[in-house]
Amino acid sequence: MTNPVPLREGLFRETAAGPTLLASCCTACGHTSYPPAPRCLDCGSEAQEPVELGSDGELLCATVVHMGNNRYPPGYTVGYVTMPHGVRVFAQLAISAGEDLPAPGTPMTLEIVPMWREQEQDVLAYRFVPAPGKESAHA
Ligand SMILES: [Zn+2]
Repeated sequence: MTNPVPLREGLFRETAAGPTLLASCCTACGHTSYPPAPRCLDCGSEAQEPVELGSDGELLCATVVHMGNNRYPPGYTVGYVTMPHGVRVFAQLAISAGEDLPAPGTPMTLEIVPMWREQEQDVLAYRFVPAPGKESAHA
C-alpha cells in the first residue's frame, strides 16, 4: 500500500485546525492569489508572502457537469467558493447525483481526500462540502 500523493505541492495542507488552502498575498497591494503566484496577478509585484486561507468559505455558484471525463463519471458537481481575502476557488463539490444543489451563500468547508487514482496511487486533492450549520469566517 502506497501513500497518496498530492495533486501538486504547495496548494493545500492539513493542519491541527483542519485542512487549509495555501495562497500568496501581495505585500505591495494586498491582492491575494490562489494558487500562490510568484508575481502579483494584480500589480505585478514580486513581493509575495504565503498566506493560509483556511477551510471555510461560502458558495458563490454551483452546477452539475453532465459530461464525464477520465476521472469522474457524468453527474458530478462543481462550483466557485468565496474564501477569506475574497479569493474565489473553483473546485468539485461533494454533492451526490440527484441531490439538490446548495443555494448560493451556503457555508462550505474544505476537505482533502483521494479524488482519483493515477499510476496505481491515490491522488489527494480538495473539494468542498456543504456545511449549513457553520458560520462563514468572512461573512
Ligand atoms: Zn500586488
